[in-house]
Amino acid sequence: MKVDIHAHLMGEEVPGKAFWDGFTRLAAVHTGRDEERIRQRLPDIWDLTGERLIADLDDAGVEKVMIMPVDWGLVPAFKESTMEIWDQHLIHAEVARQHPDRMITFACFDPRRPNAVELLERAVTELGAVGLKIHPAAGFFPNERIVYPMYEKAMELGIPVMVHTGPEPKPLYSRHCQPVYVDDVAADFPDLNIILAHAGLSAWWQEAAGVASVAPNVFLDISGWQPVARLRPLEFYATLRSLIDTVGAKRIMWGSDYPALRLLMPEADWAKAIVEPAEVAQEKGISFSEEEVAAIMGDNAARLLSL
Ligand SMILES: [Zn+2]
Repeated sequence: MKVDIHAHLMGEEVPGKAFWDGFTRLAAVHTGRDEERIRQRLPDIWDLTGERLIADLDDAGVEKVMIMPVDWGLVPAFKESTMEIWDQHLIHAEVARQHPDRMITFACFDPRRPNAVELLERAVTELGAVGLKIHPAAGFFPNERIVYPMYEKAMELGIPVMVHTGPEPKPLYSRHCQPVYVDDVAADFPDLNIILAHAGLSAWWQEAAGVASVAPNVFLDISGWQPVARLRPLEFYATLRSLIDTVGAKRIMWGSDYPALRLLMPEADWAKAIVEPAEVAQEKGISFSEEEVAAIMGDNAARLLSL
């Protein structure tokens, strides 16, 4: 079974104008394209009904996807333009309800919200969320004591916690997203399953591998690596090989971070990049066994979430 462990429903208002401004500015720098042209293509990314996500998954032969809101409502620059976080959860839950055999939700709440623990419990019991995502880029460290009640509640509910790792476009904060801060959490909650989303990205993947290598309860997801796979494939395959050799294939999971990167690398190409590695990898003697590919592409997620 192929599973996308990490996707979002996003639209003009979700997560909000400040995010799309930062995204457009950064995409222009990276692609050398005009900001205005990128802005005009944003509607090809926006998808609050999940219909295009389902079509993309069908193209890629992916059976199930975890969809999740992002709680950036407490980021000062986002306050004006972010949809209320519970409403974002309702949108995700409603779309998942329409595709019960394909989509499952994770909750996402900023632990600094006074009622964050209660919201998490409601998202699981009322909306059917099967995991929690937290986003330190909003301006908190994952090892701050204020986050611990969320981990305790996740333990009680029997759900994994995904923590965003890796640099983020402005106006989000990056230093909070270094994987090493999660090492404290792995130490204090040895029975909590923790997913380092994006495996630290190209900036901090070795740090993510280091944290996971000594904590059997820490998993990595490789969502967000599409730009490297597309633009610097040899670096991508060498990194993936190294992650597997350091952490083991059983704790690495494929994901897309849909929809932000779908124009750069469609879901089907991204799945194919793992299932049939590009020639450049073989030429350098980098290969992946069938078992490793099956584990990464969905077996691990299915095991972790009892799918
Ligand atoms: Zn994400």
